[in-house]
Amino acid sequence: MKINLDKLIRRETDKLDLNFSQKIDTINYCNNSYKLSSPINIKGKVSNTNKGLYLDIDVDFILIDNCSRCLDEVEVPIEYSIQGFLVKEGFDEDEFEDDDALIFDGQEVDFVDIIEQTLDFKIPASVLCKEDCKGLCQGCGANLNIEACSCNESANDEEIIDPRFAKLKDIFKND
Ligand SMILES: [Zn+2]
Ligand SMILES: [Zn+2]
Repeated sequence: MKINLDKLIRRETDKLDLNFSQKIDTINYCNNSYKLSSPINIKGKVSNTNKGLYLDIDVDFILIDNCSRCLDEVEVPIEYSIQGFLVKEGFDEDEFEDDDALIFDGQEVDFVDIIEQTLDFKIPASVLCKEDCKGLCQGCGANLNIEACSCNESANDEEIIDPRFAKLKDIFKND
């Protein structure tokens, strides 16, 4: 997902319009690798300014996260805009604010890389498959949205042991 900025750098043009979609398998963020269930859509431009190359784009795509209660896959639509100067690594921090600087290699913009640099706070800290997701049973791991389990009555309270289990317990003791 790279665009060569040669023409801009050589000042053959002042502005490069961007409007494209591309299918990407995964986006990496904070040691997580998120699968994408939609192409990445990019719309906007890169322009030559007297301070440098300025990127101004809207980005949207759908990533797949896991429900924080039942771990089921959840589609999370992500949509935001990215603005900043394209600078090389080791850029002069007096010249550009950190927030304003997007790192590129000096020749090509890699949009996956730019997105990974700007995903801060764009992915919700926790997602739910549905508002009232019942989650997984702490006892047996059953997905309580799909099935009911019998842990609730017994395991929650150690004092109440189903007589059938009590017998089993005795058998194990003699082992
Ligand atoms: Zn869930
Ligand atoms: Zn259970």
